[in-house]
Amino acid sequence: MNFLEEKILSDATIKPGNILKIDNFLNHQIDISIMRQMAYEMKRRFTGVEVNKVLTIEASGIALATMLGDLYDVPVVFAKKSQTANSTDDKYVAQAYSFTHKKMNNVFVSKPYLLATDRVLIVDDFLADGQAVHALIDIVHQAGGEVAGIGIAVEKGQQKGGRLLREEGYHLESIAIIEEMDWQTQTIRFREQPSHQDVT
Ligand code: 5GP
Repeated sequence: MNFLEEKILSDATIKPGNILKIDNFLNHQIDISIMRQMAYEMKRRFTGVEVNKVLTIEASGIALATMLGDLYDVPVVFAKKSQTANSTDDKYVAQAYSFTHKKMNNVFVSKPYLLATDRVLIVDDFLADGQAVHALIDIVHQAGGEVAGIGIAVEKGQQKGGRLLREEGYHLESIAIIEEMDWQTQTIRFREQPSHQDVT
């Protein structure tokens, strides 16, 4: 079991509706030590991949993205969410249905912050149905940039996002992948992943 899986087992609460609550280290209070370990682990998994920008979506992806931006020494951009569709002249805009808030969001990045020369590492806290990540991919492509990889803290493997992104050929790395979780018994089973030594 890796450090994040252990932390989830000790600190997470499972809510009805397939929601994992990890407010005490990621979604409300931020545990810098865990964040730092996640950033190092993610960078290690993308060894050899050229990255010149990190892109996430507000709000909970920002902490991890910032730590990765520090390790790569590259700018970090966070897409903003808004329910209104105002002018798209100066922005790249995509739509994403929010799994946790059950509403459609416009997601946007101002044009100067994404360029056709960018090789972008997309980062987020959770991957569920893949709506948020697909919106970010769409925005990178609108700018003419390339998606270098997708780094996720917690993938919920029972939902379709991870399968779709792997089928689409993206290099997706999730530090913890939940295979099953049950809110009534508060039990979680993780997908086996190669240990540190096995990953090249
Ligand atoms: P997706 O767009 O992949 O369907 O859902 C991912 C987004 O929804 C993430 O940005 C995350 O903020 C939120 N999310 C999805 N599932 C969970 C969950 O179980 N717990 C928390 N805290 N956020 C989640």
